[in-house]
Parts: sequence; structure tokens; C-alpha cells
Amino acid sequence: MVESGALGVVGAGVMGSEIAFLGAAAGDHVTLVDTDPGALAAGLDRARAIAQRRLAKGRLTEDEARGIEGRIRGAESVSALSDCAAVIEAVSERMEVKLAVFEAFGEQLGADTLVASNTSGLSITDLAQAAGRPQSVVGLHFFNPASVMPLVEVIRGAQTTDAVVDRAVELAKRYGKTPVRVRECPGFLVNRVLVRAMVEAYREAESAGVDPTAADAAVAHGGPAPMGPFALGNLVGLDTLLSISTQLEGAYGPRFSPGRLLADMVESGNLGAKSGGGFDVDPDAPPTKAAAPVSQRYYGAAIAEAAACAREQIADRRDVDLALQLGAGWETGPLAWAASQGIDETDTAEV
Ligand code: NAD
Repeated sequence: MVESGALGVVGAGVMGSEIAFLGAAAGDHVTLVDTDPGALAAGLDRARAIAQRRLAKGRLTEDEARGIEGRIRGAESVSALSDCAAVIEAVSERMEVKLAVFEAFGEQLGADTLVASNTSGLSITDLAQAAGRPQSVVGLHFFNPASVMPLVEVIRGAQTTDAVVDRAVELAKRYGKTPVRVRECPGFLVNRVLVRAMVEAYREAESAGVDPTAADAAVAHGGPAPMGPFALGNLVGLDTLLSISTQLEGAYGPRFSPGRLLADMVESGNLGAKSGGGFDVDPDAPPTKAAAPVSQRYYGAAIAEAAACAREQIADRRDVDLALQLGAGWETGPLAWAASQGIDETDTAEV
């Protein structure tokens, strides 16, 4: 079944406003819900601004832009979503906030509504339980900015049915995205592989006394990643990265330990692009021999984690590679790259 018609998006922040644009651009009537009227107004403005930017660039006609803007309306309660074919939750990443929203979904959405969460890492299975309809809840993990990034991870919770996963895959395709099917695990797929590689590189740089600029140059020139782990950390937000790696360390053990370099930056209030501080990096620096071990450790860890995801059937091998290409900008996925370099994926960093 291909969803069409009415989409509900709950949470009008960075992600919700972009997802609302995507739905309207695909022809759906979108209701964007936020309990904070100021956030709702700002979210509606952001969604409409995307249409205006595309109009200015000649990528939309005036009629198309007007049509998109006209198909997005705002509301302050989930009760406005009872007629929606699909609802995507994108509220703040706090379990207690999301659980309350999913309880409201259970009470107020139609029985056939596809219910999705854009969570970056909270349990789809737990959210599904809160909705009281665990079989019809799925993760739809868009990447930021959602109007541009091509990847969507479709996360299957413990009780999500095949039919619901298929509907979510079709929805993502209709919104112009490339979906990959992911079985739920902490970190899902892209963040699990990427965060593992990043924190391994941070710990190696720290113990070998390699500075962030040299470490980034080694990684950017040493394999398929488009940038080094320190520059990427600055972009993601160092507090967000610390929080994700600490959660993943709890789930998987010390291979996800964030290490001192990251913890010290966060303690000193240097959070990357969002705070204006962060790791000091120069993207134009040439690679040096002394920093090569950081690159080996980074790619070794990524390959090992990617291989573990394939082995655990979190996603199939082709999708593991595709997800890193589309979600993280890698030229080649880690498993295909390991094969092309003659690297034995069972012989890389410990999983
Ligand atoms: P955000 O803080 O920009 O927006 C969250 C919005 O939710 C706010 O406007 C807030 O008012 C609203 N909200 C809070 N409680 C609500 C409720 N009960 N009902 C309705 N609205 C409510 O957050 P964001 O960055 O857009 O992230 C949203 C979700 O998307 C999170 O789960 C996050 O993990 C995930 N995500 C974020 C990114 C990213 O890079 N920002 C990427 C992928 C996924």
C-alpha cells in the first residue's frame, strides 16, 4: 500500500519542519503539530522557506511552491491527526516526552495509521508498546537536513510487522528518499558504525599524541570518508556525540568509550559549530606519516562494526555499505572498501 493523502508530523523543530516540507512536496496534506506555539510558527516558517529557496533557485515553479506552502498547516494537538494515513513523530529526543506522545497516538490515531518515529536512537519497541499497537509502529530515521539527505533508515521494532515496514519503505520512496531496512539495535546502523570509528580515532589520537588536524588529514586522505572525525564531531555537536557514545558504551561495552579528548571538550563548553568552539582543525592540511595509525584505527573500527551489523543481520551487506555512502557521504561503503583493499574484515579492530 502506498501512503498518500494526509501526513501528520509531530514536533516542529529542525527535523519536523523539513519532514513536513517533504510530505507537502510529494503532494500530501501535512499537519505539523507542536505544543509550543512559538516553535510551531517557526517550524511552519522553516518548512515554507525551503519551498521559497527552491523557487529562487528555479527548482520549483511559483505554482508548485504555492501548492506546497498551501498544503502545510499547523496544529497544537495530536487530536488534529485522526484522519492521517501516516504520522511521523519528531519531538525532542527525551524518552519521557516521546512516551507521552505515543500514548496520545494510541488514543487518538486511526487503527490503520502508519505510526513512525524519527528518533536517532531511542527504542522503537518501547515507543510502540506505549502506543498500545506495537505492530504498527516503525522507525523512520531521516538525516539532517532531511529535505536534502537521501537516506532514511527504516527501523523494525521487535513487533513491527512486515506489512508496516513495507509501507514505511514505500512512504520514504514517495518522499524521494532511499530507504534501508534496519533491524532495531542501539545506535541503529549509520550512527553505530560512524560513532564507533570516531571515538576509536579520538582515543588513538590521544594516546599517540596526534593533533586533530593531523588526525583528520590522515582519515580524509586514507580512505573513503569525506572528512575527518574531529571536523565531523564539530558539525554533529560534541555534547550530542558524547551522549550517544556514552549510551552506546553502556549497550556494547568499552569499544564505544568516548575517551578524554571528547569529554574534556564538552566539560570546557566547546561543543563545536553550535557553540562556536570545538576541536581545532584545518581541512586543507596535508596527511603526515605520523598520523597514519589514527586512520588505520578509524577505518579498522568502521569495518569491524559494519561487519558486525551484517553478521547480526541488522541490515544486509549491500545496505550497510549504501547507508554509509548516503548517510555519511562515504565514497565507497566500508565492507566494499575493505574487500577492494584486501582488508580481512574479521581481522580488524575488536568488536
Ligand atoms: P528540536 O529540538 O529542534 O525540535 C523538537 C520540537 O519538539 C520542539 O519544537 C518542541 O517544542 C517539540 N515538542 C516537544 N514536546 C512536544 C510534544 N509533546 N508535542 C509536540 N511537540 C513537542 O529537535 P530536532 O533536532 O528536530 O529532533 C527531533 C527528533 O529528530 C529527535 O528525536 C532527534 O533525535 C531526531 N533527529 C535529529 C537529527 C538532527 O540532526 N537534529 C537528525 C536525525 C534525527
